[in-house]
Amino acid sequence: MKIICIGRNYREHIKELHHEVPATPVFFLKPDTSLLIRNRPFFLPDFSKEIHYEVELVMKIGKVGKNIQKKFAHTYYDEIGIGIDFTARDLQNISKQQGLPWLIAKGFDNAAPLGKFIPKEQLKDQQDIHFHLNLNGTTVQKSSSKEMIFSFDDIISYISHFITLKTGDLIFTGTPSGVGPVKVGDKLEGFLEDEKMLKCEIR
Ligand code: MG
Repeated sequence: MKIICIGRNYREHIKELHHEVPATPVFFLKPDTSLLIRNRPFFLPDFSKEIHYEVELVMKIGKVGKNIQKKFAHTYYDEIGIGIDFTARDLQNISKQQGLPWLIAKGFDNAAPLGKFIPKEQLKDQQDIHFHLNLNGTTVQKSSSKEMIFSFDDIISYISHFITLKTGDLIFTGTPSGVGPVKVGDKLEGFLEDEKMLKCEIR
């Protein structure tokens, strides 16, 4: 199982981090050891002073595929969930300045809290999936899949040109604006439509 994450997929988030809108999806991997499941707490690591939350819609891949055409991409995922792409922003900024890969900023242990999934057929509108993140009860990130620059189908088609997708792979589809730091005692809750799918306490 692999975890593929899309970066820079919402215009407002690109603006807040002062990036350019990409011409093709930007993606990177997290190792399976970054998964944090069953609403377990997240312990702040000692190597960063600036861990940011990034709430994201997550696709679960349902069958093996390579070079998937966009028109067939929707048949490769059946379930949608909510995840958090924890990012050591201080380490990421150093990596970016040096033109180096982001792995230590994104792929550390427990950097990918993952909540429940629901079958996509249960969604009211698969082209307009609303989601949000609450921090200590206040909504800090809120968007819809229709705000994505690259759709689920674009992402599957593009990635599968380079990397074979396998059953159970997870694709984090990018974060909207409103990212920010966490501190000890914070409580994060991720919602898909109005259903709470994920919680994570910071310790
Ligand atoms: Mg992200």
